[in-house]
Amino acid sequence: MQAPPPDAGQAVADIRDVDAAPSEHAGNPDMSEIVGSHDLLLITLDTLRYDVAAELAAAGRIPHLARHLPGGIWEKRHAPGSFTYASHQAIFAGFLPTPAAPGPHPRLFAARFAGSETTASRTFVFDTPDLVSALAGAGYRTVCIGGVGFFNRQGPLGSVLPGMFQESHWEPEFGVASPTSFEAQVARAEQVVAGLPAEQRLFLFVNVSALHQPNWFHQPGATRESGDSRATHAAALEYVDAHIGRLLAAASSRRRCFAIVCSDHGTAYGDDGYTGHRLGHESVWTVPYAHFFLEPGATAR
Ligand SMILES: [Zn+2]
Repeated sequence: MQAPPPDAGQAVADIRDVDAAPSEHAGNPDMSEIVGSHDLLLITLDTLRYDVAAELAAAGRIPHLARHLPGGIWEKRHAPGSFTYASHQAIFAGFLPTPAAPGPHPRLFAARFAGSETTASRTFVFDTPDLVSALAGAGYRTVCIGGVGFFNRQGPLGSVLPGMFQESHWEPEFGVASPTSFEAQVARAEQVVAGLPAEQRLFLFVNVSALHQPNWFHQPGATRESGDSRATHAAALEYVDAHIGRLLAAASSRRRCFAIVCSDHGTAYGDDGYTGHRLGHESVWTVPYAHFFLEPGATAR
C-alpha cells in the first residue's frame, strides 16, 4: 500500500469529476450496485500482448471479442505485474491493469484503506485482503478455471491462486501444452454454470493459457522447430476468439453479467533482444483491457 501523494487533494477532486459522468455507461460502472445484482466474469488472456490484440481487432480477425469491446477497440493499460503470479496477486487484491495514461484512475474494486486516491464512490470497497473472498462474503460462488502453471494445483505454489476460490478446476488439457486448452476450459465452465442453482450469484474467473508459450501449434503449418513467434501468438488469439462466444454465453445465461477481459502481462519475441516475460519491456508491461455488460441470453454462439 502506498502513502497519499503530496497532490492527494487534487486526486480526490479528479475522481469526483469522473463520478459525475453518466451512470449507466459501461466505461464508468457503479460496482457498488453491480456487486450483488450481477454475475461477474473475469477472464485473463494470459500473456496476450497489447499490440497483437489491437492489430487483430482492427483487422477483423477476432470478431467475437471485438463485438463486445467498447468502440470495437481494446483499451491500452499497464500490467500490475510482469508475470502471472505477481499480476494475479495484484488483480485479486483489486489492482486491475491501470489505464496507460496519467492518472489517478478510479478502481472498480479496492480494499478499504486510508489514503487510497483511487477509491471512488463507484468502487466496490471490501474489508477482506482480496476481492475473491470479498465476493464470497457477498454471497457469490467463486470459481476458478485455471490455465497456466500457477493455477495447476500441483504443489504448494501452484495452489496459492486457485486456493483463493471456493472451487477451482485444472486439468492437463487446460494447460499451456494443450492445443485444445481453451475448448476444454470453456466446456468445464459450461458444466459449472449448469450445475448452479438459479438464484446463486457467480464470480467466474478463467485464466486462458492458449496465448502463453508454447503457442506455435495454433498456426496452421507451423512446426515445433519453427517455434513461437508474434504470428503464432496472434494465431492463438484467433483460436481463443473462435470459442469465446460459448464462455460469454454461459456466464450470462442466468442473469446480466459484468465481464472484464484483460491480459496479465505481455511477452517479448526478440523485441530489443528480449524474449519472454518477468522483465521490464513495453511488450510486457502494456496489456489489452476491456469491461462490458453481457445481457442474459444475448450472446450469440
Ligand atoms: Zn501470465
